[in-house]
Amino acid sequence: MTKTVTPEVHATTSLSLKGKLAVVTGAASGLGKRIAEVFADAGANVVIADMQLDAAQATADAISRKGVKTLALAMDVTDEAAVDQGFDQIQKQLGPVDILVSNAGIQIVAPIQEFKFSDWKKLLAVHLDGGFLTSRAAVRQMIAAKRGGSIIFMGSVHSKEASRLKSPYVTAKHGLEGLAKVISKEGAAYGIRTNVICPGFVRTPLVEKQIPEQAKELGISEEDVIQNVMLKDTVDGEFTTVDDVAQVALIFAAFPSNALTGQSLVVSHGWFMQ
Ligand code: NAD
Repeated sequence: MTKTVTPEVHATTSLSLKGKLAVVTGAASGLGKRIAEVFADAGANVVIADMQLDAAQATADAISRKGVKTLALAMDVTDEAAVDQGFDQIQKQLGPVDILVSNAGIQIVAPIQEFKFSDWKKLLAVHLDGGFLTSRAAVRQMIAAKRGGSIIFMGSVHSKEASRLKSPYVTAKHGLEGLAKVISKEGAAYGIRTNVICPGFVRTPLVEKQIPEQAKELGISEEDVIQNVMLKDTVDGEFTTVDDVAQVALIFAAFPSNALTGQSLVVSHGWFMQ
């Protein structure tokens, strides 16, 4: 019997965010900045929300040359009033939010016996209070606008794995997975999808700062921190890049249905395998 071969359809689907409004927190630098650029390339209008207003403005100015609308906003994601007022301003100037990337983050490393309680609270506030406050504000607008939406949390391989010296960071990144799962359940009726990106090490300012700090704490060279701590368990000894992470963010942002919700995707050169 002759087997019928169905020709493969190679659809050239470029993911479009045309007409969507995306808010990216911590977008003055590193991963958030690249995500904002990639979203603009896909046609989205973007809000660059960050504590560093000058750097946020510079990013917004550069992105606006791509022909999309941008807004730079001074926002401390740990401050309830600042987040709520910021989202009000966004709605007034650009309309309701379609996509939130809750990305702002910090890192503080120390052994647990030396970890200051103030540093523990500061780190949890940026990642967890920030994740809650920004997603609550975005969900409110998405429900009212009745056009669904996509919420993306910036997790980490540390949403899955632990490393020495990072007690609050690992705690916070695990916590974001729980928050994402709850919002994906509560948001489903409104077409709000919620997912988590879990990158391996990416050479942003957040990581550059950690290399000498970890070398000091662990009593090893900076090269050893890179090779034997950060990249030790990857399949190829390579750093993940800002672009790798931004492309995953684009998939989560553009995906059209609730089929892809409540998920986390690890982008780490195989450091962590599900
Ligand atoms: P980065 O330091 O380059 O950028 C972080 C940005 O967040 C900065 O612009 C900073 O001003 C902003 N920010 C910090 N606190 C804030 C606050 N309270 N309110 C508003 N903005 C604030 O760092 P990055 O590496 O791009 O990190 C971005 C996110 O990615 C973080 O959540 C981080 O935990 C996560 N992440 C990073 C890596 C990595 O290897 N770089 C890996 C996994 C996850």
